[in-house]
Amino acid sequence: MKALSVRHDRPVFAQEKCKDSEECKTELAAFHNACSQVISALHQLMDKASGDDEVSILEAQSFMVQDPEFHRQIIRLITEEHYKAGPAVEAAAQNLINMLASSLTHGARENISDIQDIAVRIISCLTKESLLKLRLEEKSVLVADTILPSELMSLNREYIAAICLDGGAQTSHVAILARAMNIPCIMGLREASSLVSTGDMVALDACSGILYINPDEETSRRIELLRAYAQAEEKEMSEEAVLPAITKDGRRIYLECNIEGLDFVQTGLRNGAEGVGLFRTEFLLMEEGKTCSEEEQTAVYGKLAAMFGKRGSVTIRTYDVGGDKIVKDMQGGEDNPVLGWRAVRFCMSRKDIFRTQIKSILRASAKGKIRIMFPMISGSDELDEVIAFFNEVRQECRNEGLAFDENMKVGTMIEVPSAALASDILARKVDFFSVGTNDLTQYTIAVDRGNEKTAYLYKEHHIALLRLLRLTAENAKKEDIGLAICGEMAGNPLYIPLVIGLGYNTLSMNPASLLNARKIIRSINYSDCLSLAKEALNMTSCRDIEKLLEKFHAEIGYTE
Ligand code: PEP
Ligand code: MG
Repeated sequence: MKALSVRHDRPVFAQEKCKDSEECKTELAAFHNACSQVISALHQLMDKASGDDEVSILEAQSFMVQDPEFHRQIIRLITEEHYKAGPAVEAAAQNLINMLASSLTHGARENISDIQDIAVRIISCLTKESLLKLRLEEKSVLVADTILPSELMSLNREYIAAICLDGGAQTSHVAILARAMNIPCIMGLREASSLVSTGDMVALDACSGILYINPDEETSRRIELLRAYAQAEEKEMSEEAVLPAITKDGRRIYLECNIEGLDFVQTGLRNGAEGVGLFRTEFLLMEEGKTCSEEEQTAVYGKLAAMFGKRGSVTIRTYDVGGDKIVKDMQGGEDNPVLGWRAVRFCMSRKDIFRTQIKSILRASAKGKIRIMFPMISGSDELDEVIAFFNEVRQECRNEGLAFDENMKVGTMIEVPSAALASDILARKVDFFSVGTNDLTQYTIAVDRGNEKTAYLYKEHHIALLRLLRLTAENAKKEDIGLAICGEMAGNPLYIPLVIGLGYNTLSMNPASLLNARKIIRSINYSDCLSLAKEALNMTSCRDIEKLLEKFHAEIGYTE
């Protein structure tokens, strides 16, 4: 495999200092502003992160940006030594790195790459210039001096065959991330990035931690054999791990995955997802504010359906842009975007964009098992209008002689309280419901899902939410339509028995949560889930419900 060799250049700052205290004040304000931007960017990445490992690394970085000691040093450098903000951040980060490098504790040393990462992020905000410039254009083995966690998260994973780094250890954050992404990785190769040039052929034996540069034929063959053997072993392990999700007393639960982009499809497949319960499509619109063509979209949807093949259907959610997923150049400037021009509201006023998406979904449905789902439906009239437009596009496809599945299932998300309360009416108009508890919680309790200050109020086990979940499930059952839950609640071990007891037998979750969810389901009785839900619905306080759920988990012997 070809190598891409990368060495990072450090930013070079002019040496001049602040001229007067006014300039110091401006630099200080710029530093604080850059920190706020970095924190909000990290939170956005956390929302998009598809694994617990990614989230915990991002959380740790977000704490580091706010670290009082780090701030104290920078403030002192700016106000007392008249440094400009960029060099002050660099100097303070270097101080911290020197301190950590000499620390005897392993954990402390591991934080070095995170400090470098946040320093680069803050400096990028200050200079308004992206310092993360790594780009992969074909599948390659990345050989680098170092790679920052945020760089790794922003790369196209399909192009990374393996990673070889001069520094780091197997437990460093980058290595953890690479494992979560299923990318072979060798750390601590000291001078690999100087010895390997871009375009060299390399082969790696990740188990022994050896990188071969321009290997002979014999070595390449041996490494290929080792790789095939490791893959077969992994397949065997995941086959054993993937057993049907059936409770001890025989209730079959269907486990699907939530996918954003095509990056984590393999994890979903490996962990036994029985379909895609939620395909978030916003990334097709949000990358640099440009829209994807009908052909490109049809190819993406078709590829996903083909990857899942006979396993199960792929539920494609139409663009849920707006709110916390603003499309640059198309949206913005609203006082209250979460209650504003988002999802179907945006799509119905940009029918050009919506038409292309629906047409692409329909065209892809000719090739695989696909369902369409509309987000943020707030009531019956809105749903009628969206379905009427969908039917109009279907008719256009027929007129153009395009092949599509005439029986493609049409569903709506239930994520606005008004939709849950009117779910008896909505259930007569669609083939399935999928409950998005992330937004349903936010809108029911009137608590911003991304605001740390009010996070203590954000509780999916709030009695009002449990009532809405129950009502939605009852109404879906009455009309005999499909019912799933695809908010984060579905993959949270604490809530799985509760949602099953509330009537949900299809749970769609982050691919990384599937194996654990299956394990829990196989260790519980459906009858106990029913009693648990009944008891929770009779309680009056969140705290009591929480205790009840924890007690249930302790009794089944669940440990994180
Ligand atoms: C939800 O709101 O629960 C949901 C699944 O959608 P998203 O998280 O993409 O808003
Ligand atoms: Mg939502």
